[in-house]
Amino acid sequence: MEEIKKKDIRALTREQLREFFVSNGDKAFRGNQVYEWLWQKAAYSFDVMTNLSKETREMLEANFVINHIKVDQMQRSSDGTIKNAVRLHDDLIVESVLIPTKSRTTACVSSQVGCSLDCRFCATARLKRMRNLNPDEIYDQVVAIDNESRLYFDRPLSNIVFMGMGEPLMNYNNVLKAIDKITSSDGLGMSPKRITVSTSGVPKLIRKMADDEVKFKLAVSLHSAVDEIRTSIMPFNAKFTLSDLRESLQYWYQKTKSRITYEYVVWEGINDTQKDVDALVEFCRFAPSKVNLIEYNPIDDGEFKQASNAAIDRYVNSLERNKITVTVRRSRGKDIDAACGQLANKS
Ligand code: SAH
Repeated sequence: MEEIKKKDIRALTREQLREFFVSNGDKAFRGNQVYEWLWQKAAYSFDVMTNLSKETREMLEANFVINHIKVDQMQRSSDGTIKNAVRLHDDLIVESVLIPTKSRTTACVSSQVGCSLDCRFCATARLKRMRNLNPDEIYDQVVAIDNESRLYFDRPLSNIVFMGMGEPLMNYNNVLKAIDKITSSDGLGMSPKRITVSTSGVPKLIRKMADDEVKFKLAVSLHSAVDEIRTSIMPFNAKFTLSDLRESLQYWYQKTKSRITYEYVVWEGINDTQKDVDALVEFCRFAPSKVNLIEYNPIDDGEFKQASNAAIDRYVNSLERNKITVTVRRSRGKDIDAACGQLANKS
């Protein structure tokens, strides 16, 4: 019964923890000690906080819980990619992915359970959005992958992309809090330049990010620079139109001077003509940008099909001719449903 009343200790700031100890007749610095255990040392129980007295630990235990994630299942792909099924304190599951390359280890993390957007080519869209993740649930996914990277690849995590389940900008405050923790010396001390937030494009929130002077990188899942087509594959585009998106990105660039990356899948019969290419080139003109042509990862029903190599080449040639950086990215972890757009709690 009592359990229900206990507060999640990781919802407290360092200052609030310090105040908690003072109001309990103890020293403020105890708050710092606990804060370090919770965030730098990722402690999941009060028992391990050995620089606190037994009484203090019991007192914490009586007042708080430490909600934490649990990696329920870990799958390894033949290409080295690792997918974690992560169980949250309320038994909901999200997925995160570790992607190793020669020079980096990238964590692909989730920001929501399910997703409220309705991209027709994405498996996560078929799960309804159940809830936003808390900052610590996002942070914990990163810590779990950092540990796996050290264990299996002998090196720390080097990059983070918010390209797992959910739309990060629809969980703006918690994503920013998690990134603060990941980048602060209290947490993992990672450079924000190594973090990319990927969004389907919510113009109002892109402007807000610019105003908030965030230091991480921005990627936009564009997939088409023609309104009619984009709306047919990403229905929310009817509400957040391309011109609105473009204006917000212009604002972002003016404020941050940070290059924008566009993610783009080319599908047969959808966006594989020269007209589509020209529209993309035009869309990219206002600021330095980079286009990642990503491979389509089929999701069951076969409605969408990856375009031919000739169509991809058409994109590459036109973009290069117009001095827009373009990369063609092959997906990783397909054999374990860990690739972009395949995260749907299947295993
Ligand atoms: N909601 C955010 C982040 C999650 S999606 C966003 O939209 O950016 C991560 C990337 O995977 C996006 O670029 C998305 O468009 C892409 N994606 C979704 N389904 C895919 C699929 N089946 N194959 C390839 N990429 C896909």
